[in-house]
Amino acid sequence: MKSKGQLIVISGPSGAGKGTVIKALLEKNDFWISVSATTRSPRNAEIDGINYYFITKDDFLEKIKTKDFLEYAQVYGNYYGTPKPEVLKVLDSGRDVILEIDIQGALNVKMSYPSGLFIFILPPSMEELRNRITNRGSETPESLLTRFKAAHKEISFVSKYDYAVVNDTVDNACDKIQSIIIAERCRADRMNGDFLKEEISNE
Ligand code: 5GP
Repeated sequence: MKSKGQLIVISGPSGAGKGTVIKALLEKNDFWISVSATTRSPRNAEIDGINYYFITKDDFLEKIKTKDFLEYAQVYGNYYGTPKPEVLKVLDSGRDVILEIDIQGALNVKMSYPSGLFIFILPPSMEELRNRITNRGSETPESLLTRFKAAHKEISFVSKYDYAVVNDTVDNACDKIQSIIIAERCRADRMNGDFLKEEISNE
């Protein structure tokens, strides 16, 4: 039997640089990134179906009813959810899947999919985090403060994850995550018995 893909869940506060690190990981690996559905409006250059599926609140609530999400959460007043059928199909095909989701979502996935690999990305410091969010320029002073306060709270959940990776430089963070994933693939409890499938015979 072919091994299933690894479910890799990545979270971290706004401004930790998750997006950039994940982009670098995708350039070097054949990972599949799940595209979430959200009720928030697209930012600048975001494209429907690439960054998110931008859907209405009514459509989102309907998908909750029909159990179309692996997990969903309300973040900063908007709904976000991971489409379940797509993710399970890709994992079954043996390909590794990355979910970039918030902490509530990650904790829910941990309950329903405990064999996932849970990685938390940290900024080098809180000061640097504030600079990064401010320099992004897409936030109002109000939403900036909301995101910064939320970041404090989010970081307090880091111990719920399997690994914490400080994003000092993208290359470093990427190398660390790649090493974690490689080590995880070698875990003895991930072996599925293929090794012993050949019958022992005396011939
Ligand atoms: P943003 O609006 O900045 O794109 O994302 C806000 C937050 O929502 C981020 O922490 C991001 O990880 C999280 N998020 C994005 N997609 C999902 C999802 O499908 N589920 C959950 N629970 N969180 C998500």
